[in-house]
Amino acid sequence: MSTTSDQGAGRVAVITGASSGIGEATARALAASGHRLALLARRGDRIRALADEVGNGAIAIEADVTDRDSISKAAARVKAELGGTDILVNNAGIMLLAPFTADGHDDHRRMIEANLLGAMTVTEVFLDQLRDGSGDLVNLSSVAGRTARPGNAVYAATKWGLNGWSEALRQELQPDVRVIVIEPGAVATELTDHITYPDAKHAAEQMYKQLAITADDIAEVIAFAVTRPQRMSLNEILVRPTAQA
Ligand code: NDP
Repeated sequence: MSTTSDQGAGRVAVITGASSGIGEATARALAASGHRLALLARRGDRIRALADEVGNGAIAIEADVTDRDSISKAAARVKAELGGTDILVNNAGIMLLAPFTADGHDDHRRMIEANLLGAMTVTEVFLDQLRDGSGDLVNLSSVAGRTARPGNAVYAATKWGLNGWSEALRQELQPDVRVIVIEPGAVATELTDHITYPDAKHAAEQMYKQLAITADDIAEVIAFAVTRPQRMSLNEILVRPTAQA
């Protein structure tokens, strides 16, 4: 399967959450297919090192998807330094698994603000740039955007929300912008490191240890989707580890 085509070389991709996991792997995959990159995350040291590594004019921009000002400044830098945005990958996210109780209030807010409102804010700010050319909007949803389970209520709500929002945008933005929703199952990244509820963290880590696929597996799928000819659109891609229930 080739991940390169006419659609690749020279297009500018903005990736949120590029400092680890799927975002970092996607940066490498898109750089390999000739894209120019803007790497966004809060951990500046990591994205600066990655920008140096991938080269081809890549820029690193410290930004928090829950802070609209930092995203507006990032969009202005991308316009000034790279000429605009062809591909926006809304990847930044957190998964704070736990049974739903009042104790989880802070975690609930953090997930909604980063996973759902964050993606909306970044998209709203970058939308004019995406519409300037033939843009691609890639939203990182999850299997949890289709299947809710005990312990993932709010995380699933953010990803179900992302799916509904994406489908409306697909119809609103066509044919100028392709909307591509990626729904991974378990992928070995730093995602489970941030879970604050010990039992849920332990269970997730055990499950991931047994069957998780790699961030590169997902990055290849993203690179494939955005390099298809403009006439076609891979709108929704569900990718599970083969052994995942
Ligand atoms: P990681 O924890 O490895 O990466 C998450 C990234 O999001 C980091 O780069 C982090 O950067 C960034 N991030 C988190 N909060 C913010 C914020 N407020 N502002 C800016 N950046 C932020 O996890 P993954 O790579 O696994 O996760 C990427 C996406 O994939 C998420 O949306 C996740 O829900 C989704 N996903 C992951 C699956 C998995 O099993 N791993 C399965 C299904 C979906 P920094 O901390 O430097 O800001």
